[in-house]
Amino acid sequence: MKTYKIACIPGDGIGKEVVPAGQAVLEALGAVSRFKFDFENFGWGGDWFRAHGEMMPQDGLDALRGKDAILFGSAGDPHIPDHITLWGLRLKICQGFDQYANVRPTRILPGIDGPLKRCTPEQLDWVIVRENSEGEYSGVGGRVHQGHPIEAATDLSMMTRAGVERIMRFAFKLAQSRPRKLLTVVTKSNAQRHAMVMWDEIAVEIAKEFPDVTWDKELVDACTARMVNRPATLDTLVATNLHADILSDLAAALAGSLGIAPTGNIDPERRYPSMFEPIHGSAFDIMGKGLANPVGTFWSCVMLLEHLGEAEAAQTLMAIIEQVTADPLLHTGDLGGKATTQQVTQAVCERITGAL
Ligand code: ATP
Ligand code: MG
Repeated sequence: MKTYKIACIPGDGIGKEVVPAGQAVLEALGAVSRFKFDFENFGWGGDWFRAHGEMMPQDGLDALRGKDAILFGSAGDPHIPDHITLWGLRLKICQGFDQYANVRPTRILPGIDGPLKRCTPEQLDWVIVRENSEGEYSGVGGRVHQGHPIEAATDLSMMTRAGVERIMRFAFKLAQSRPRKLLTVVTKSNAQRHAMVMWDEIAVEIAKEFPDVTWDKELVDACTARMVNRPATLDTLVATNLHADILSDLAAALAGSLGIAPTGNIDPERRYPSMFEPIHGSAFDIMGKGLANPVGTFWSCVMLLEHLGEAEAAQTLMAIIEQVTADPLLHTGDLGGKATTQQVTQAVCERITGAL
């Protein structure tokens, strides 16, 4: 029987609640499938920082290297500066394992009321591909004359031809695999006249490799309006690190809640493990009360299963998630309901046991 080695990193805040919930769901799936999981837990994050002065150990990546995938919760702590929590754990893994494609599916799930009242679930079915290794978040830049009147600072958006080509090719390939074969390349080349123009040129070049994919170009500002006004004209989108960061939070809100949205940080070449996580943060305001919606983590588990090649189990779990969201009695507070993390998790586990 195939055993997948999964690293679990709950991290901070509600990550400590939703990752064990995801683990329980995968365990339930493993119990009724021809594969199982071997989990290893890593207590990295804010608590680790308080004890050791760093978010994860120096040799932490080595401990993850041999895993088939990583299930991540959240990194963020009100008592530790954001740049430490972000760069010290999540980005360290993303960059250390060259997970250059960040993939964020968005759909309005059954039973969930999004803010777009005129929009049916069929009209909002997107996957946003975010460049995850360079661009605006390259960390290139500096600050001079701090505290003086002439103080200045820069954040350089660095884009390499190789980096843009690989994310563009990934996005075209993903669009090609979806029924509508439709890709929107999001840019800001009217105002950002160097790297974004190269991005546009590379899109034209890579498009030639995918003649069956219909594609168009959209400026990022216009894209936000299009997502609200004409959601059905979009399917797969590709954008830079910063642009897609913003677009995918908008997408999650349009789908009804931050608590249901998943993401995968993918190394398409499979040299290293890929990492799956809900898009929400640590949400200290609701931490430890059983109020966290675990659906974003469960959907991330669907992506994890797809990545492992377990398409059937992924489909089964997604169908069960949709049964659960369709039942208002199983909605957590963010969806206007009263259900607890534990109740939603149990409902999913019970259906898995009954379904297979
Ligand atoms: P971080 O600083 O780590 O990003 P945050 O406190 O900004 O964390 P987010 O997760 O970004 O929190 O979410 C903002 C708010 O949305 C939270 O404060 C919480 O009230 C709500 N929220 C987020 N995720 C969930 C969830 N899974 N279930 C229920 N509510 C959620
Ligand atoms: Mg946040």
